[in-house]
Amino acid sequence: MKLRYPKHCEHCEGIEEIENPKHHPSYEITTNCNLDCIFCYSRIAKGKIRPGYYGDMNPKAITISQFGEPLLVGEKEIMRIAKALRERFGKVRLDLQTNGILLTEKICENFDIVMISLDAGSRRRCLEITGGDFFDRVVEKIRMSSEITHTAVRTIFMPGINEDELERIAEIASFADELFLQPVSIYRQNAELLEKIDLERAESIWEFLTVAEKLSSIADVRIPGCFLFNLNKVSKYMEPEEMRFLKRNAFAEFPEIRREWRFEI
Ligand code: SF4
Repeated sequence: MKLRYPKHCEHCEGIEEIENPKHHPSYEITTNCNLDCIFCYSRIAKGKIRPGYYGDMNPKAITISQFGEPLLVGEKEIMRIAKALRERFGKVRLDLQTNGILLTEKICENFDIVMISLDAGSRRRCLEITGGDFFDRVVEKIRMSSEITHTAVRTIFMPGINEDELERIAEIASFADELFLQPVSIYRQNAELLEKIDLERAESIWEFLTVAEKLSSIADVRIPGCFLFNLNKVSKYMEPEEMRFLKRNAFAEFPEIRREWRFEI
């Protein structure tokens, strides 16, 4: 299988041979959200992340945002922030990370990449995972965004929780440019909510790659650039058969921002 990373990972230090790589800059707006996803780190970070720009002052790409749901501030305000970032930094790629609920055509027109989270393939499962009954609406927004700008459907692989609906998600993502498949991270505070997860399979790299390959017949599957970079490095020292036993640690610490806070617009 020819594994690729999503367009969002271009210009991130995670795909380069750098000691302690940092994610490319982000502009944080809020840690609040109109959903309450069982795996999400924003619920842990509530009130702990200061709004504003984090990163170097010569960015090639900026993500709005890594925490919370940025569109809670409304269309007018998100456009004001995007415009101000472009005025300040010139030719910069703007990536929007959203759950899609409040996405509008105008917002899509103002972003180079729109990443929309979708972790279930049915209304019922969507409600169980996110706490919100917005499945049909998000699917409609994925179609809308795909017609306007580069659109990625962002899906977390959670064996035991959503794997039986991944094919349906891939079908929906086939309208978009990419299906960005990510392995699950389990934060201590979310562990109880994720108790149904099949941990052994969630930690198996082979399992993750097998699922990515299977879904590739339906959508353009991409996996995280930093994951792929490290996999390529490790694979040089292993026989293909040994890769079957390669594991990752699914448990994660609080996702601190390791970039410097600079300003608020
Ligand atoms: S997935 Fe990894 S490489 Fe891609 S943007 Fe995030 S940290 Fe960077």
